[in-house]
Amino acid sequence: MKPIELPQGYKPHDALSLRDYLGSVPHIAKRLGGPPSTWVVDEVGDGNLNLVFKVHGPLSGVAVKQALPYVRLVGESWPLPLTRSHYEYLALEEERRLAEGLVPKVFHHDETLALIVMELLEPHIIMRRGMVAATRYEHFADHISTFMARTLYFTSDLALSADQKKTMIGAFSGNTALCKITEDLIFTEPYMVAANNRWTSPELDRLAAEFRNDVILKGAISRLKLKFLSSPEALIHGDLHTGSVMVTAEETRVIDPEFAFMGPMGFDVGAMIGNFLLNYFAQDGHEDTPGAREDYREWVLQTTEQIWTGFESKFLELWRTHQTGDAFPASLFSGPLDAVQLEAERAAYMRNLFADTVGFAAAKMIRRILGLAHNIDFEWIKNKTMRAKCEARALKLARSMMTSARSFNSIASICALARGLRNWQPELG
Ligand code: ADP
Ligand code: MG
Repeated sequence: MKPIELPQGYKPHDALSLRDYLGSVPHIAKRLGGPPSTWVVDEVGDGNLNLVFKVHGPLSGVAVKQALPYVRLVGESWPLPLTRSHYEYLALEEERRLAEGLVPKVFHHDETLALIVMELLEPHIIMRRGMVAATRYEHFADHISTFMARTLYFTSDLALSADQKKTMIGAFSGNTALCKITEDLIFTEPYMVAANNRWTSPELDRLAAEFRNDVILKGAISRLKLKFLSSPEALIHGDLHTGSVMVTAEETRVIDPEFAFMGPMGFDVGAMIGNFLLNYFAQDGHEDTPGAREDYREWVLQTTEQIWTGFESKFLELWRTHQTGDAFPASLFSGPLDAVQLEAERAAYMRNLFADTVGFAAAKMIRRILGLAHNIDFEWIKNKTMRAKCEARALKLARSMMTSARSFNSIASICALARGLRNWQPELG
């Protein structure tokens, strides 16, 4: 692949050069306080694609995220445009406008350096880590359903005029390289022989081969891919899993929207639900004694249900109270009978969105087990046989979800199937 052409003035920072740079931005220097020599700069080091630094000054701290012209985890052999920082910045600003308090505040953006200075989230941790350690987040379902309902509703045709909507599509249409990662790694490669794929081997070899030879599944994932390619329904985060959320017991912040574009809403909602279901199946592998995490497991499923039901009710409420878009124009539905029809339309819309959500959730589950990027929920299970068992159960649920998305009429029915599958003893090898 051709290396990315670097704009004049771009250079990746290290801790020292970043300190000088921040010192030259007066409002950031003021925020940190004291002379730059007193600032402590640490590279976080767990970003997949970018550089992230934490900077502490005598007065306060900031986080700094800078894009590299390649995928950090892989190196220069995998070029990736710096413009992703531009889209991340745009998305963070839009999300902040719509869901204030649920994303980090942006203090400064440097387009040339592909760099964002933002609120330092401390003592927040990445939610996935908390969930692997069986920590409950009692406000999470409420927070994330608000985030999704507001960011998706207010950037859809239900709330925007047609020209506003098309302007937004234009603003995000250049984020093609990041979309392409999703198109390849989620919607294509896990279903074929591809160099990037890996799975728990040899335990899951047979299942992985079954998935590659499953024509029904290939049809279903291709329909989902088409939806992802061709449905600019709303501004989606594009990577909304539990690794893109930082939490404390009280607070929730959604980070890392560099994959943002105008796409299908179910992709965001499905990402979150799929990752909760993966965590549910992984819990067996983290128990000290069988059953020790039964209560936590139930919390995970209850929260999964609340994420959808909370999202659905908040989204519908916004539609009833802020019907300002060019779709379903309020002026067309002004009579008493129209109100009944409109409610029926809303219910049908949510049924479709739920089916999309179920399909995309399944796609997210499968890619984390058979594709390139895995997650610590499973990776940190030390016993390989146990890990493969947990993964096989998740795969089985995901396969049903993807191929029969429309036959599930509630999130509860999916959670019930998940519960049942925990008793399934897969044949490995
Ligand atoms: P990448 O897109 O490269 O994966 P992320 O945006 O996910 O980068 O950030 C990588 C890591 O940096 C996160 O997992 C988190 O630990 C840390 N991080 C990111 N943003 C912040 C922030 N605002 N405050 C504190 N830590 C952060
Ligand atoms: Mg990222």
